[in-house]
Amino acid sequence: MLYLVATPIGNLEDMSLRAIRILREADVVACEDTRHARILFERHGIRPKRLVSYHSHNEKSRAAELADELRAGASVAVVTDAGTPGISDPAWAIVREAIGLGIEVIPIPGACAAIAALSASGMDTTRFVFEGFLPLKKGRRARIAQIAGEDRSVVIYESPFRIKRLLEELLAACGPERRVALAREITKIHEEFVRGTIPEVLAAVELRFPETVKGECVVVLEGNDGKTEMEEEGSE
Ligand code: SAM
Repeated sequence: MLYLVATPIGNLEDMSLRAIRILREADVVACEDTRHARILFERHGIRPKRLVSYHSHNEKSRAAELADELRAGASVAVVTDAGTPGISDPAWAIVREAIGLGIEVIPIPGACAAIAALSASGMDTTRFVFEGFLPLKKGRRARIAQIAGEDRSVVIYESPFRIKRLLEELLAACGPERRVALAREITKIHEEFVRGTIPEVLAAVELRFPETVKGECVVVLEGNDGKTEMEEEGSE
């Protein structure tokens, strides 16, 4: 049995009773960063039977090892550094492996930055698209053009170092009327939502953070209602 256990995205209280129980009972707990996981486990009195690390640098070899354990009948619980395993993090490789082996995969739901940001963004939540992280270079411009034309709300994960650049790119592609919400440090002490048109949010961010935006961020873009001013093609 493979359990995908959601963990908090900041506030350690955002942990379900079921998640705590599964982490106590599983034969193996695989986590992205053992030091990070130990802080959470200590807070909730979780002493895993066996703790192994599982991250983007060893995901292939570790996925194969965990697959052997699963095949042998062990229960494995996967946690990542924050939120729901498999959502823009390395856990998806083991999920795929387990499904391929015919092993049951059970989600233990909880925090997810994308859903938390979307729910409080003020954007239409009836239909939305999750873009995760955009490509850094190759294909980025095309992806942004695609996003600008999207009529559903769009949820994007972005590094704080690139937030201003992303807002500028969205402004160029979507025009000044489009609304956006920047969700920063959700569930943490400095949690904040900056909502407005793209130029308003960009101005607020530049005023508050002349150097670099601080903390983890999610951007939620309003869907295109048909009035978007598209950037001229081929001007890259
Ligand atoms: N699996 C996670 C989830 O369920 O949301 C996402 C992991 S992904 C590697 C990390 C990204 O999620 C960050 O770069 C940021 O965009 C977003 N994120 C995670 N925690 C956040 C928080 N507390 N506030 C805002 N964004 C957060």
